[in-house]
Amino acid sequence: MMTSVLTRGFMKRQAFSRCISTTTAGGKPNYAFAFDIDGVLIKGKRLIPEATRALKMLNGDNSANRNIPFVLLTNGGGVTEEEKARQISEIVGVKIDAKQVILSHSPMQKLASKYRDKRVLIVGGKGRQCYDVAKKYGFGEAVTPHDIMHWNSSSWPLAKPSSDLSVLTSAAQEFSTLPIHAVMVFHDTYDWGRDLQIMLDALCSKDGILGSRKGDYSTQDVPLYWSNVSTLFLYTCSCFNSNLFIERSSPRLGQGAFKIALDSLYKKLTDHELHSTSFGKPHGATYRYAEDVLGRLGARDQGRVYAVGDNPAADIQGANNYGWTSVLVRTGVFAGDNSKEFPAAMVCDHVEEAVEKIIFDEEKRK
Ligand SMILES: [Mg+2]
Repeated sequence: MMTSVLTRGFMKRQAFSRCISTTTAGGKPNYAFAFDIDGVLIKGKRLIPEATRALKMLNGDNSANRNIPFVLLTNGGGVTEEEKARQISEIVGVKIDAKQVILSHSPMQKLASKYRDKRVLIVGGKGRQCYDVAKKYGFGEAVTPHDIMHWNSSSWPLAKPSSDLSVLTSAAQEFSTLPIHAVMVFHDTYDWGRDLQIMLDALCSKDGILGSRKGDYSTQDVPLYWSNVSTLFLYTCSCFNSNLFIERSSPRLGQGAFKIALDSLYKKLTDHELHSTSFGKPHGATYRYAEDVLGRLGARDQGRVYAVGDNPAADIQGANNYGWTSVLVRTGVFAGDNSKEFPAAMVCDHVEEAVEKIIFDEEKRK
């Protein structure tokens, strides 16, 4: 069932929309799509069946016989864009290029020119996967909490560092004289206690030198960046129980919850607020980055962008704030007519219904 909702708030936002043209030029569509992944195309590691047909329509299997630019825009991460493209292609059965994948930390690669030769503490993710992502982005002097633990085991005495997770040379492991210039959280941390301790050590240090302490916390020496600040994420696991296929979804503490803990501890220890910069949905920096990517994929400047998502607070709020057309689907965390807090321009049962309706309406405009 399709439900179009134009609330007063949405109409007001549309007044600032970037949707200024209704024609096409040079055969290029003047519209494009940005899809959330989990809850729209897949759920956990399982395909949402309508996703395959939806993406095939965008790859030319439509009434206009042309490709319509699209990106996958997710608050997930912890792997390279190439790896995520491979995983999604395999599940959905449609080839996705790494250039179409925007992870929560993808926009942070723009910071690499500023920190190319400077030591940056990369937090979060499994093993050294986020370290590998950071190196690929151009953070040439990336280090991890594990490297610090390896340098000085008393930095987190409640666990032992494992040697296979530290690849730095002994010279590069010198943290008592070489400063940490920034702290960047790329993904959910797998070790809250250790990472809270080591991040606080860096953020409370004088000029980023571990082991030192600032005397005056009215200014912050070490900038802090988050790749997303969602308090909860939906974890879905599938299993067989007594020959029955069971799928369980649970809201779990995400990067935003870790941020609350860090902010609170910093305030308690220093009596000052911890300042930081956030990326990911619903933050504008992520949408600006996505708009650049869509441009490189052939989307027209100032064309309409339809943002399809299942999470009102992230997908719909972010799209509405940025002036994109928001589309809420019922295959993920949302069920109902429309979100009361962050109403979408359109609500559909699933992604195929959304894509079909939008292509039909857009092609009629010609
Ligand atoms: Mg989602």
